[in-house]
Amino acid sequence: MVDVRGVHKGFGPLEVLRGVDLRVRAGEVTVVLGPSGSGKSTLLRTINHLEKVDRGWISVDGELIGYRRSGDKLYELKEKEVLRQRTRIGFVFQDFNLFPHLTVEENLVEAPVSALRRPRKEARETARRLLERVGLAGRAGTYPRQLSGGQQQRVAIARALALEPKVLLFDEPTSALDPELVGEVLDVIKDLARSGTTMIVVTHEIGFAREVADTVVFMDGGVVVEQGPPSAVLDNPRQERTRAFLSKVL
Ligand code: ATP
Ligand code: MG
Repeated sequence: MVDVRGVHKGFGPLEVLRGVDLRVRAGEVTVVLGPSGSGKSTLLRTINHLEKVDRGWISVDGELIGYRRSGDKLYELKEKEVLRQRTRIGFVFQDFNLFPHLTVEENLVEAPVSALRRPRKEARETARRLLERVGLAGRAGTYPRQLSGGQQQRVAIARALALEPKVLLFDEPTSALDPELVGEVLDVIKDLARSGTTMIVVTHEIGFAREVADTVVFMDGGVVVEQGPPSAVLDNPRQERTRAFLSKVL
């Protein structure tokens, strides 16, 4: 479903991704761990082309992201094409990023209507159904500021789902939350995992990784140091760097 091959990305002299390879199968959950600055967010941002790669390529559901291949050359896609691709790659941010001036329902309806040309009535029905799914039935008319962080993040997840994404990317979805609100957001993500949603989740929640991940990926210094099932990477890490990191967060 998601294929990342030999991806390099730098900012000026700083090489942040230094040849990342990652494969995520449809219906699987991949949890990405790694120290601050290891390139986790940059990796997610390259997957939906918020950052352009310097080298390598990424495909989602068989479609090259940001480029079109012709012979052995790659040509950049037009902005409109990139936006089309991005609508099907859901992104959930640490700080929710809801539209503050729109109600909860409007937050969910806006993109399907404008980007996917869904009829507004249909988009509203989908919004209601998704709000119910994330445990927020009845909050459709509320504004984001009237909700707790955990509720806002659940709205953000529902908003991403409203675009029927092929894959959902989460960048530390619970790190901005008070500890007592972390569980309700992780429960929603677990529910999505059970129903076969393909997801890449950057998080420091090791318990969640152990319970939900099909694959755990440990990144450090812009490369994937180690990856495998949670029982291998978390309980029997082969690399010293993975062991050192885990001993600090566990
Ligand atoms: P954290 O756990 O703190 O979120 P991370 O693993 O997500 O870290 P990234 O955000 O991917 O790390 O950043 C990796 C490095 O790239 C950092 O040194 C960061 O300062 C740098 N970086 C990221 N984005 C940019 C940018 N747009 N311009 C310049 N440097 C950047
Ligand atoms: Mg980050």
